[in-house]
Amino acid sequence: VRLTFYGGVGEIGGNKFLLESRGSRLFLDFGRSYEREKRFYEEPFLRPRGERHLIELGILPLIKGLYKCQEESCHLDGVVVSHAHRDHMDAIRYLKDEFPVYCSETTREIIKAREYSGISDPGYCISRLTKDGEECLKTFVECGDPSHIDAVEITQLAVDHSVPGASATVVDDGDCRLAYTGDIRFHGPSGELSSRFVSKAAGMDLDILLIEGTNMREGRMSSEGEVLLKAREVVESCGGLVMLGYHALDLDRMRTFVQVAGQCDRCLAVSMKQAFLLMRLGETVDLDIDPSRLFVFRRDKKTTYRYESEVLDAFGGRVVGSADINERQDRFLLTFTLFDMNESIDIVPWPGSVYILSSSEPFNEEMEISYERLCNWLDHLGMPLYQIHASGHGRPFELRRMVEEIGPRTVVPVHTTCPELYARYLADLECEVIVPGEKMTIER
Ligand SMILES: [Zn+2]
Repeated sequence: VRLTFYGGVGEIGGNKFLLESRGSRLFLDFGRSYEREKRFYEEPFLRPRGERHLIELGILPLIKGLYKCQEESCHLDGVVVSHAHRDHMDAIRYLKDEFPVYCSETTREIIKAREYSGISDPGYCISRLTKDGEECLKTFVECGDPSHIDAVEITQLAVDHSVPGASATVVDDGDCRLAYTGDIRFHGPSGELSSRFVSKAAGMDLDILLIEGTNMREGRMSSEGEVLLKAREVVESCGGLVMLGYHALDLDRMRTFVQVAGQCDRCLAVSMKQAFLLMRLGETVDLDIDPSRLFVFRRDKKTTYRYESEVLDAFGGRVVGSADINERQDRFLLTFTLFDMNESIDIVPWPGSVYILSSSEPFNEEMEISYERLCNWLDHLGMPLYQIHASGHGRPFELRRMVEEIGPRTVVPVHTTCPELYARYLADLECEVIVPGEKMTIER
């Protein structure tokens, strides 16, 4: 097995690991690197024009034949995507459509739903709308049960993370066995899945473990259960509107807020995009959300996109706008990010209203919150801010325990800003720890 690191080393996000074995070539994740893009670009006026610019700047690896702009062909059996966060999958849009994407069914549905409800450059779509529905330009292959690519077997095992459908990946070529955690945590509502992955991996006699380390410098001890208790205390003490900021794909957090709403005799209003995602995932994920507590917030705007019409049809009477919220502020928890703030002028939050910011990872997973701008709006509205959050990533002691329990021969810390610290943290364990470098190759 040859493993080459083209991103996600010494940085959080942009994971791209090329695995070559017995004539097969696969990428484990092919994510967008916000860190690298930020060095050169400033949205919205200075943004890359296609993959040619990204390759030139070293943001995407130069590999001949991989990208749409290149005429040459190259052999690649596909990309195995761990989960639907953009820093793990979004750069697949620049790859030629002929390369299949291996992922869980839920991951596929999230990727498609988000693209359907977002704006993509027409030349770089993963799926697109047609008269009859939608067309998927990439071939998605589910690999919950082992998938075979020639002599190489790939298995994805579900793990807990802050997006549904997240998986760890195991690759077995007969001689060498490798596992890649993707992003993983143990303290979320589905922590049991992560423990099950660890037990399975422990029995596999692994040669290599690629392990994430997002929280090596951010070891926070809050759990999803604590988020519920703390948020409830805030909501119970508030007689006005409660606005919420959290990641649109974090459906565990959404479920927590629905529960808080139920306990405080309020309802949760979510964004159109979140409502659409819920509709699309209804068949693949058991969301366990009380539908009577769930409303959709409709921004005041002239055009209605097709996905929005579908949401409006599906939610019927459970659609609210700024005027409805204005009248019934003590009846709602309102999902409301910085990008919704123009609506606050019509909502006019009552004195005593509050904002709960329920995310704390501005540096990764596409959640670059402009904290200062948010605060300026809240100053204007007279709304204090509470930060209540539990991370999507394992704490350092859990990551170390995972290595101890799995017992691989070699460990490679990825998706972390401090791989050297990580290596020293694991130095007494019976495994070799390799600090990966850009374009470094490991052979086993
Ligand atoms: Zn993630």
